[in-house]
Amino acid sequence: MSAVGHAAGIRVLCLDVDGVLTDGTVALDDMGHETKRFNVKDGLGIAVWRRLGGDVAVITGRAGLAVRHRLEELGVRRLHAGVVDKASAIADVARDAGCPLSQVAFVGDDLPDLAAMRCCGYPVAVHDAAPEVRAAAAYVTSAHGGHGAVREVVEHLLRSQDRWNDALAMFDPAAGTGRAPEAGSDRPRSA
Ligand SMILES: [Mg+2]
Repeated sequence: MSAVGHAAGIRVLCLDVDGVLTDGTVALDDMGHETKRFNVKDGLGIAVWRRLGGDVAVITGRAGLAVRHRLEELGVRRLHAGVVDKASAIADVARDAGCPLSQVAFVGDDLPDLAAMRCCGYPVAVHDAAPEVRAAAAYVTSAHGGHGAVREVVEHLLRSQDRWNDALAMFDPAAGTGRAPEAGSDRPRSA
């Protein structure tokens, strides 16, 4: 199957955190508390993907409250934190979501992501990923990690699935399919 064919079948978007949802910076205050910076465009992309019925999971080698708070804001409940073996974690994600690994995309940026990328259905690298990760990817984003790369992946997947107009219709019915949004389902708020 072509890369586009694999993208068309993706149901679960699985994300690394550092270097994908963030630019990889980890800031520590004087108390040792960690802070991260997340991009609202990525938040919007995740909200749109979920709103259109897609599933989202996050796999990270680190553990911290900042990512938990951010995912809570976005309604993402599938968090695998402190993961050493990301290939095993992505298999767990697929099993929990009730779909084959061929329907799971994984977005990574560095060497610990390679194993998960090898076994998922659609491996994606952010633009500033390690060369080995870019080489393993079926799709490389134009955006760097933490700068809208996840939002770009969502658009890429939805376009591959011929559903991008459904996303546009959430915000501008005139630009979409003309199909009215479901009752009570407002457009995703600023994410
Ligand atoms: Mg990373």
